[in-house]
Amino acid sequence: MLRVIAFLLIAAVLLALAWGLGSIPGTLVAQSGPYRIETSVPAAIVILGIITGLLALSLRLIGSLRRAPGGFGNWRSGRRQKQGEAATDRAIVALAAGDAAAALAAAAQARSLLGDRPQLLLLTAESARLAGKTEQANAAFEQLTLHKGYAFLGHRGLLQHHLAGGDHDAAATHVLAAGDAYPRSQWLQNQRLEIALRKRDFGAALALTRNPAEIAALATAAAQSATPPANALRYAKQAIKAAPGFAPAIAAYAKALRKTGRDRAARQMLRKAWATSPHPLLAGAWLDGIAAPIERAQAAAELAKSAQGHPESELLLAETALAAQLTGEAKRHANAAIQAGATDNRALSVLSSLDPGIATISAAAHAPAAKWQCSFCASEVSDWTAICSNCGKAGTLAWTTSGTLPADHARSMAQITR
Ligand SMILES: [Zn+2]
Repeated sequence: MLRVIAFLLIAAVLLALAWGLGSIPGTLVAQSGPYRIETSVPAAIVILGIITGLLALSLRLIGSLRRAPGGFGNWRSGRRQKQGEAATDRAIVALAAGDAAAALAAAAQARSLLGDRPQLLLLTAESARLAGKTEQANAAFEQLTLHKGYAFLGHRGLLQHHLAGGDHDAAATHVLAAGDAYPRSQWLQNQRLEIALRKRDFGAALALTRNPAEIAALATAAAQSATPPANALRYAKQAIKAAPGFAPAIAAYAKALRKTGRDRAARQMLRKAWATSPHPLLAGAWLDGIAAPIERAQAAAELAKSAQGHPESELLLAETALAAQLTGEAKRHANAAIQAGATDNRALSVLSSLDPGIATISAAAHAPAAKWQCSFCASEVSDWTAICSNCGKAGTLAWTTSGTLPADHARSMAQITR
């Protein structure tokens, strides 16, 4: 109802205006040269209104056209953004799938569309590394180090590159820089240890580990290479504390004690260690400095008293007797070692030296060797080292004298020792 009333009112007003306009008297004349226009005043007012409306419409159209390039630019940049994001997604997926070439191409496309964003630099670096393009990878990692939030990732990439290439000094520089960028990284702590191990910097490596086996091995190595005897003692004590009864550490401690003139303490410690856990390294430390074979045999007999009848005691007595040409003693102790349970080739080697028969030589050749074996990579070495030369791990070498003897060799050993 209200709308009807409003409509009638507006119609009435417009009718009144038209009537008012039409009733204006007079004539408007415009003349230019031979042209003459003559019209009534109401018609002139209507024409003026139309011209004003057209002018306003034209101005509005011109404004729209002026704004048009901005609108087109926004549309274009939105399209680039979408294409760049799609290329980024493709690069991520290709990288995860191990398709280095596709990942690299997609990352390059994303960078051309979106610019050198840190995420894209990282994608480029990792893709290039996967593709074996080291220089391209390093260039991207270098660029990444300049981005505050991503500097850690840049230094991390360069650190891995230098570590793989064996450039430990360059790797150490990036460890420091990465540490500044992200101080609480456990990964970085492991890398520091890795670098110290590769550089054989035992002191530095010791400060970076809490693993008892690693501490024992590294402290022993540090004691072996320390120049001042006081330092050697300190490191050896640290090693024994981490792994009581660890033969390399006890041997290193005895050597350090001797260097400080405490020969008696060294002998006492070696004798005590032999009583609980005889080991060739302890015998080596006990006999250290004794040159004459007969004196070595006598000294060995003194140490062996601490663990009489033990296979290692018998082996020590057999080997030192053989060196001193006490053949009867050597044979007796070698047989005693086998009877006591020695299964490695040392006793058989002594016997084959005394009686080079085919059976003995064959048995010695097939018996397992006493050795240090890495618990990580299973590689075997005859001499103990703090760091496995094969896998680079610290504290993984364990002494082993056993092995699986074939049944026929077990029989032949029984015949030899009969
Ligand atoms: Zn190993």
